[in-house]
Amino acid sequence: MGKITGFMEHKREKQPYRDVEKRVKDWKQVMAPWPVAPLKEQASRCMDCGIPFCHEGCPLGNLIPDWNDLVYRDQWLEAIERLHATNNFPEFTGTLCPAPCEGACVLGINDDPVTIKAVELSIIDKAWENGWIKPIITETRTGKKIAVIGSGPAGLAAAQQLCRAGHDVTVFERSDRIGGLLRYGIPEFKMEKNQLDRRLDQMLAEGVNFETNAHIGVDVSVKKLQKQFDAILLAGGASAPRDLPVAGRNLKGVHYAMDHLTLQNKRCEGDDVTESEFIDAKGKHVIIIGGGDTGADCLGTANRQGAASVHQLEIMPRPPSSRATDNPWPLWPQIYRVSSAHEEGVERVYSVSTKRFIDDGNGNVKELELIKVEMKNIDGRISFAEMPGTEFRLPCDLALLAMGFIGPEKPGMLEQLGVNITERGNVGRDKDWMTSVPGVFTAGDMQRGQSLIVWAIAEGRSAARGIDKYLMGSSDLPAPV
Ligand SMILES: Cc1cc2nc3c(=O)[nH]c(=O)nc-3n(C[C@H](O)[C@H](O)[C@H](O)COP(=O)(O)OP(=O)(O)OC[C@H]3O[C@@H](n4cnc5c(N)ncnc54)[C@H](O)[C@@H]3O)c2cc1C
Ligand code: SF4
Repeated sequence: MGKITGFMEHKREKQPYRDVEKRVKDWKQVMAPWPVAPLKEQASRCMDCGIPFCHEGCPLGNLIPDWNDLVYRDQWLEAIERLHATNNFPEFTGTLCPAPCEGACVLGINDDPVTIKAVELSIIDKAWENGWIKPIITETRTGKKIAVIGSGPAGLAAAQQLCRAGHDVTVFERSDRIGGLLRYGIPEFKMEKNQLDRRLDQMLAEGVNFETNAHIGVDVSVKKLQKQFDAILLAGGASAPRDLPVAGRNLKGVHYAMDHLTLQNKRCEGDDVTESEFIDAKGKHVIIIGGGDTGADCLGTANRQGAASVHQLEIMPRPPSSRATDNPWPLWPQIYRVSSAHEEGVERVYSVSTKRFIDDGNGNVKELELIKVEMKNIDGRISFAEMPGTEFRLPCDLALLAMGFIGPEKPGMLEQLGVNITERGNVGRDKDWMTSVPGVFTAGDMQRGQSLIVWAIAEGRSAARGIDKYLMGSSDLPAPV
């Protein structure tokens, strides 16, 4: 513990962000670097708890008090070694994680929690700046071949672990670029893609092979892969979107959130996306249906594209500003949050459901008809009752459906393999991460449902251990979950 009285002397500070006025005019990352001196004060708030609940809160089991202490003492090289011991990609979590560790931090019982995520990001930023991140090349090779299908954080973490364990790893990705949702879901203003690219360079140098435009189960047969590889990891995510089958759904101007985000991300990559295929919010009244993080990403994107107005709709009531009595520490705080995208301008509408999309007479959406709803919780079963007479309309030239995902896509790879699917619609697995098909493993959103990057990395690491054990009889790789 760096400073015994740190938590009494210093209050929690907010991560610095670039000015709203400036940042909405570009696609650069909104977070600004945290100068070292005040950051060390923040790290000194850590109490080095006898039972560090932050460890439990973090799916990766990050050694948080250790690196808080090392940052306070200016021992950055030791800090990155400790951070990399549990996390392949701290820049992804340090930038993007909602930080369940902070929700579980003991200081959060009667004060604001430690700024764990910002300390993590500063450590990895310093490590890149100082050239401390080098390829780790394993000279002894096992001769075993592994196919990883899907290049999101789960597939990448597993691939790096398995390659470092001496196996020959090929990552297959159906898109034209590697990265999964890190590449085409998450907007540039949340994480600049050069952060992803430099990690991919490290993995390439370590010996991981990447094959893009390789849609397994569609243009590459999964049966062929089974013959060519000793083990397969399914890390294809949970990309089947939840639809809103109400009247007017097929009008022009009603799109899935991911289509909007992907096209803008492609433009940010420098791709030539034609005007006819691009989904542009410029000058439009935009309505985002879904109050979650995907919706917030559409919001930041729409504002940067120059939307005339943006409403974000949520069927749930507005959360309380501090923990409710049935949501005590160390549970994840279900509280009202304002993301960087919300700071940039939006009207958030709660307890509302969409009745229909209204036509302008030429097949384009012109308005949304909405109705207020009341949430009912009967024996833990949540339902929403429409409140008669509360119907209202909002102008809408572009509606973006951001209501979550119903699970992995079944046609193609999963159906051809015949893996067992759970009641929740995800790929089933045993305790070693193997599916019902011998030698075929799974990790990330494909087996968990749409979740978080930190879970994807943790599961990728654990599945890598399962695969290593299956191929070699035992494994020294860690399994955080
Ligand atoms: C818009 C959006 C924003 C998000 N923001 C955050 C955030 O800020 N913080 C956070 O923690 N989480 C966030 N998430 C969730 C997070 O991105 C996911 O939980 C995480 O990316 C899951 O990782 P994954 O590796 O399991 O799958 P994915 O990242 O979904 O990657 C799966 C990859 O597999 C590929 N694939 C699928 N099937 C095949 C096939 N048959 N052949 C070849 N390739 C295939 C897909 O093209 C995709 O590239 C966000 C999600 C969305 C949708
Ligand atoms: S729970 Fe909070 S205060 Fe305790 S060790 Fe973890 S980060 Fe430090």
